[in-house]
Formats: sequence, C-alpha cells, structure tokens
Amino acid sequence: MTGRSLSPNSKPGKTYRYDRAQGLELLADLPMGQLMNLAHQERVRRFPDGTVTFVVDTNPNYTNVCVTGCAFCAFCRKNHDADAYLLSPQEVAEKVATAAAKGATTVLLQGGHNPKVRLQDWQAYIATISSACPHVHIHPFSPAEIVFMAGRENCSVTDVLQTLWDAGIRTIPGGGAEILTESVRQIIAPRKATTDQWLEVCEKAHRIGFKTTATMMFGHVETDDDIIDHLLRLRHLQDLTPGFTSFIPWSFKPGRTPLTQRVKHPAHPARYVRIIAVARLVLDNFRHIQSSWFSENISAGQLGLLAGADDFGGVLVEEHVHKEAGHYSRASVDDVVTIIRRAGFTPARRDSFYRIQETMAPPVPVGTGLFMADR
Ligand code: SF4
Repeated sequence: MTGRSLSPNSKPGKTYRYDRAQGLELLADLPMGQLMNLAHQERVRRFPDGTVTFVVDTNPNYTNVCVTGCAFCAFCRKNHDADAYLLSPQEVAEKVATAAAKGATTVLLQGGHNPKVRLQDWQAYIATISSACPHVHIHPFSPAEIVFMAGRENCSVTDVLQTLWDAGIRTIPGGGAEILTESVRQIIAPRKATTDQWLEVCEKAHRIGFKTTATMMFGHVETDDDIIDHLLRLRHLQDLTPGFTSFIPWSFKPGRTPLTQRVKHPAHPARYVRIIAVARLVLDNFRHIQSSWFSENISAGQLGLLAGADDFGGVLVEEHVHKEAGHYSRASVDDVVTIIRRAGFTPARRDSFYRIQETMAPPVPVGTGLFMADR
C-alpha cells in the first residue's frame, strides 16, 4: 500500500471525490502520516487563513428518563429510579441563564425519550429559555428525539419540525446518528430511530430551512465498512439537501454501559485522528469537520486539528452524558484558545451557524511547545 492511488489529482481549487473503495483504503491502510498530511492539505485549501473555530455552549438535559434503552448509554434512567428527573421549563431556563452569565452563547438542549414530555413541553422550554435569555441561541432536539416525539404525538416528523420552526428554532443537533447501518443499530440501539428515519428527519429539516450537524459514534461493534457507509450516506444527503453545517465524530465511552462487554478494543485516540482525517477527505461537501478536545481528550482533539479538522467544538459550561459514562475533560475558554494557538492555528469564537463572532490572537510562535497536558 503506497497511497499513490489516493492522492487527489483534481485541479487546484477543485474538490476530489473519493469512492467507496478509496474511502476504505484511506481508513484501513494509508499510513498515518500520509493520511494526516492529505487531510491537512485539504483543510488548508479550504481554510487558508488557518482559523480554528469553537463555541461557548452548555448542554443541560431536560430529562434523563428514557424508554429506548440503547446499549451504549450510561445516561438514561427508568421513571422510577431514585435519580430520575424531569426539569421544568423554568429550571432549564435558570441553568441556561447561569451558563450565559459565564459566557455561553448557545444551549444544546437534549434529553431522553421520556413519554411524559409532549410537544407542548418542548414549546414551553423554548419559550421560557427565549424569554429568560433572549441572546442565547437554542439548538434543540436530535433527529432521534424528533422521531420519538412524532410517534408520541401521532403526527408526522414534518409537523414536529414545523412546530420547532414556528417557535423560532433554526438549527438542530445531529445526535443519535451513532452508526448509520442497520446491522450495527440492531445491536447498539434497536429501539432508536432507524438509519432511514434519522436521515429523513435531516432531509426534511434541511428542506424547511434548518441547518443541522451530523454526528457519528464509533469504537464499539462497527466495521470499517460501516464507517465508510455512514460517511457516504451523509455525503449523499448533503448532495440532495445541503443543510449539514459540520461533521462531529466521537468514540464510544464504555464506562457503566451494557455494551462494554461486547467491546474488546475500545477506540484508541489514533483511531479518532484517522476518522477525522478520512471524514475531511470523504465528506467533500461538508465545510466543517470537528475535532473535539472534550469528547476524546485534549491531546487527541489537538492532533485532530492537524488531520483536517477546522473546528474545536464547544467549551461546555454544563455536560452530563459523557460524565455519566465516566468520561470527564475540562478546559476553559483560555485553555481552548491556547490549545488551538499551540497547534499553529488562529482561534475564533463562532455561533451555531459557524459564523465567526470574534477572532483571537494568532498562533504561538514555533518552539513554544505544542500540546497541553490532559487533565
Ligand atoms: S442514548 Fe438517548 S435514546 Fe438511547 S437510551 Fe440514552 S437517552 Fe435514551
């Protein structure tokens, strides 16, 4: 394997489209240095000014009660569990206000599939947060939650989406994608939205005018073929309805989950970096690829910036889902700015449309040290 067949030969300024076999070759065979270099070249072509964006956000979960029972989830609780909760709109708004006082500009609002929560409750969350924190962007309800809500209300996905649009929502997080192949979903999330349902929500959302992100959770029972199929399905939908703002992968966190017993080899940080690089190359119609200091660790997140990523994710004021699985990483805005600068890029704070709000100091001069220690 030389990787020679994988070198783009398109004209300058043009995007090269990798086919399925080439995508697999990138993921499985290309030496790490070549892969990172290829992805970095593509990143430089798209973002020649070397900007790396991040957002200051908060992820309060309005409920941890869930009837879906995904095998990878340490967050969900049954209704009768002692630590089960369902927050009122006022309680959520107070959390958002607290985060806003610490600098959060976006709230990523998600929760378990709780049958007690109805569409009018979602409207109440949105209205109460909007009233309490009019300057905070609300980025709510994953495609999987929207499919569940449509079933709960016995209405169409479009009806749910239109209700959110009418409430002023313009962006939706792409959670619940996991791996978009049914053979994998049957093992890790058999009662969750199917591949087709997840894609259908995104397509319909894009057609209404929403922007969404696309996610992927790897490092459990999936194969390389599954990962490439996932990317190609996203790419195909982006060709049809170009509403995805970014691709956000993260690795399965095995702590305290039933799926742990089936995972013999948890994802190594190098695998994360490979997937960032392959995503940058295969998702030629996605502008932004996120490497997250939070979901992996600071070093892996920083390395991802040298493997094609242009976004560093959120500086989370509040987060529970990863913490329940025993994964916890902390960084302040100053830390994130330093991490980006030490990787050789210019940090910039963005909003949920990936519009730059504030550009920070340029990269640290070479020789001042690359990585920050994980904590
Ligand atoms: S991942 Fe989401 S849908 Fe699945 S069990 Fe956890 S809270 Fe429920």
